[in-house]
Amino acid sequence: MLGFVLAAAISSINQGTQFDWRLTFEKSNFLRTGRYEESLNFCRQLARVSDKCTVYEIGVSPENRPMVVVVLSNDTDALNPNGRTKPLLFIENGIHSGEIEGKDATLILARRIIRPAGAPQEPDLSSLLDKVNIAFIPVFSVDAHERMSPYNRANQNGPIEMGWRATSENFNLNRDFTKADAVEMQNLLPFLSKVKPDFFIDNHTTDGGDWQYTVQYDVPIYPTMASQTAAISKQYVDSVIPKVEQDGFLCAPYFGGFDDRRPDRGITLSSFGPRYSTGYQAVRNRPSLLVETHVLKPYAPRVWGTYSANLRTIEWMGQNAEALLTANAEADADASAMKEGDELALTARNTGKSRPYVFKGFKFEPYKSDISGNEIPHWTTEKVDHQTVIRDELEAAMVVKLPAGYLVPGYLWPVIQRLKWHGIQCDPVNEQMVGKTVRMKVQMFTDIKLGASTFEGRLMPQFQLIEVERDIPISAGSVVVPIGQPLARLAANLLETSAPDGFASWGFFNGYFESKEYAEAYAMEPIAKKMLAEDPQLKSEFEEKLKDPAFANNPGARLNFFFERSKWFDQRYRICPVYRLTSEELKTLSN
Ligand SMILES: [Zn+2]
Repeated sequence: MLGFVLAAAISSINQGTQFDWRLTFEKSNFLRTGRYEESLNFCRQLARVSDKCTVYEIGVSPENRPMVVVVLSNDTDALNPNGRTKPLLFIENGIHSGEIEGKDATLILARRIIRPAGAPQEPDLSSLLDKVNIAFIPVFSVDAHERMSPYNRANQNGPIEMGWRATSENFNLNRDFTKADAVEMQNLLPFLSKVKPDFFIDNHTTDGGDWQYTVQYDVPIYPTMASQTAAISKQYVDSVIPKVEQDGFLCAPYFGGFDDRRPDRGITLSSFGPRYSTGYQAVRNRPSLLVETHVLKPYAPRVWGTYSANLRTIEWMGQNAEALLTANAEADADASAMKEGDELALTARNTGKSRPYVFKGFKFEPYKSDISGNEIPHWTTEKVDHQTVIRDELEAAMVVKLPAGYLVPGYLWPVIQRLKWHGIQCDPVNEQMVGKTVRMKVQMFTDIKLGASTFEGRLMPQFQLIEVERDIPISAGSVVVPIGQPLARLAANLLETSAPDGFASWGFFNGYFESKEYAEAYAMEPIAKKMLAEDPQLKSEFEEKLKDPAFANNPGARLNFFFERSKWFDQRYRICPVYRLTSEELKTLSN
């Protein structure tokens, strides 16, 4: 079934009556969270006692822990994306394992849906599965979850012990959705690509100052998205957020911070690119919810606030199943119709336009520190409503004209492997063309700047691009990525050279910035002489250059002027190795 290992042993012998269904969270007066083993045992036991629960192993972590996805469904084909009549929700917990309320909230939801014998007296949520199928990952960053300590998040108000933010390899998984460097991400992406969830939730905890809101949310409604996805996302927010508030959890959009010294400055919202979970779903044409419960609230209301946001989302999906499935299908169909010359926004920016907003904060009473010598932020418990503004309007920023497709050479196997994990259509290049060359317009990196430090282990370059012509050899194993496909947005965000979360920007092609061959002065001198004699145009160009004293006084640069224009110069130097194709080229290179 979909190529995943069915890890759940369905046993009719053990009905689980002896199993203690209460979580550490519940047994500790809501002060603690359990270890990963508790989640695994809980989910596997649910699968043993109910055929509505299945546990899939999607791989192992770098520290060799099993990674599991749990599916709750009345159906046998919940994961099949074709001809779906019930939408599939995917809930991601513990991408930052110190922010773990999603795990406890989801396990309680699962227990209330499955209702195993011996479970506590609690609300019956089994009817949710009449209209929705649910998949969840109890803990995504599993090794980090087991790096448990009371000292992992200095700002956070419980649980007493919690996991760590980054993986064993020190990756922040919520920056890894496009580059997919982490093993955990490499395990999850193929699963998501195969099952194609219709809605995605990512559960977190905030950092930052103090305010009244328990739940902050971000639901991408960006100009970079399919219009259908943006429209259904807007309907979702308008319907679901008031319900979470009715459950007793004051909600606000997820903002970076609030300046209590200058409340009139208000709050500004930004957008999340595809390196982030919800930004990634946005370019896959799917609505999503980022839950950020407030770091200074105790653990219990944070778990219940997460529970409410997740539960109300499931209910909304059931009530709006047809509209959601239609929006997703139409967004995919529109992307499949994209073609050469169409414009696509890769990034969004805030317009700066504001509207009135009441910010529900606390009285700010900073004090002077003897230790730092500076003012330390401090809030009392007195509620203060600031009449201020919110800037929440976004507009397209970086817009590209799409090619008909992309050619990815076979030797760029780390790129091709990632495209496959992402589920992007990659067609093998026409075999008749292998070994031949195609003259095409390609992009050359210029003005390359490399930062002094790494980000997520990568040196991210900045560069300009110019267009040049080259004879491109077609190598074995190359693939053609047509732009007209459901994942057109994701493909462009990965393969466009200027895309901020694309392979070029993540430094996959930094090696091509280097020149690997050179000519000694004694070799270049006679070649330069010959070139000058044969090409009067070149001669006048050289003489013009000599008027620049810096050039004239640099013997190396003078010889290099000829080397760069000679047949000995590396034709691949600083050429982006992913090629944007015209319709004509796409046709020639496709089968
Ligand atoms: Zn987080």
